[in-house]
Amino acid sequence: MTREEKFMRAALRCAKKGLKEGEVPIGAVVVYEDKVVSRGYNRRAKTQLASAHAEMMAIDKACRKFSSWRLPEGCELYVTLEPCPMCMGAALNARVDKLYFGAYEQKGRSLTKELAEANLLNHKTEVKGGVAEAECSAILTEFFSSMRKRAKEEKERRKNIPENNLGESGGNG
Ligand SMILES: [Zn+2]
Repeated sequence: MTREEKFMRAALRCAKKGLKEGEVPIGAVVVYEDKVVSRGYNRRAKTQLASAHAEMMAIDKACRKFSSWRLPEGCELYVTLEPCPMCMGAALNARVDKLYFGAYEQKGRSLTKELAEANLLNHKTEVKGGVAEAECSAILTEFFSSMRKRAKEEKERRKNIPENNLGESGGNG
């Protein structure tokens, strides 16, 4: 296992924690001097906050740890899914030097490369995608297919209840 895969596995473990809590399983870790210094996972459903992404949590925690919005030189961010523009922006703001992500976002739905190369904050973040890609995308695919399956089962279940047995709550479906 490569060094990159090792740290991506740590991010995957965070994603699995989110999965247990019913969240879309995305995990992230910040690494400094070959050690994981902070972890985060998507908690959007629980918090109902648009910013509760795995990367934001991991970056915020790392900043608190170093008592600095500017992370020390050499900090790396590992995330299981290609970051959205908000998280990529946070990584640039925190001066993350290297970003590794696992699964690729659907084409055109992320601006990772564009933002990394824009030199917006006079800071370049090196980006590498596809680290432990198979595992990172499998956990997401499984999550979404089980969601669809559950939604379908629920629909079937409702269809099989005779009309007059729906009761008071029946009209809400
Ligand atoms: Zn994000």
